Amino acid sequence: MNEFRKPGMKLGITGGIGSGKTSVCRVFNVLGIPVFSADPEAQKIMNSDSRIKKEINRIAGKNLFTKGTLDRSRLASLIFNDPECLKKVNTLVHPVVFERFKQWAELQKAPYVIMENAILFESGASSLVDRVATIIAPVEERIQRVMQSKELTRDQVLDRIRNQMDDETRIKMSDYVINNSENAMIIPVILRIHEDLIDHLNT
Ligand code: ATP
Repeated sequence: MNEFRKPGMKLGITGGIGSGKTSVCRVFNVLGIPVFSADPEAQKIMNSDSRIKKEINRIAGKNLFTKGTLDRSRLASLIFNDPECLKKVNTLVHPVVFERFKQWAELQKAPYVIMENAILFESGASSLVDRVATIIAPVEERIQRVMQSKELTRDQVLDRIRNQMDDETRIKMSDYVINNSENAMIIPVILRIHEDLIDHLNT
């Protein structure tokens, strides 16, 4: 991680599918902390930047925008089975997301900002933040949550989990861990992290 920067501190929030990144970010947001979510931003860029759209079609070898917007499920199945294709799309989109994050962060007035990113480490976005919090939850709970929220089968969720970095690796590279299991109390942990970051800003 970078040396602690202040002001303009940045917290990265990451975690596997269904761990509860979005839910945790909502709590930080209630505390007045602005959140930049990398995935929706990447989707926005892929649907609006004509250079990126053209390149995606070139990489895919077909038009993935036949209905006006990107056919996400076709892209997902393409990149899921083709690591080279995934790498090409990432190399195209990530730098644009990173640039947008930097510009956005400059405009915020809060003591620190958050980048929520499921692939914070894999994408290299961890180099843009000062601290990282990893969200964890038991695999079985994550499976049930994702099966419900994304209408996927158990095997589809398991495939995605296996395709992602494991929690142990993420935790080793993180400053904070937030346990978002159903039985855990996330608010006190989030408040402690919030206070820790504010303390560092004030010292
Ligand atoms: P993804 O990576 O799949 O986008 P995520 O890590 O952002 O997911 P969320 O969208 O926050 O996770 O949560 C996934 C689902 O699990 C949501 O439907 C959410 O309401 C539910 N959920 C999150 N945290 C909990 C919890 N502690 N107890 C029960 N359900 C939860």
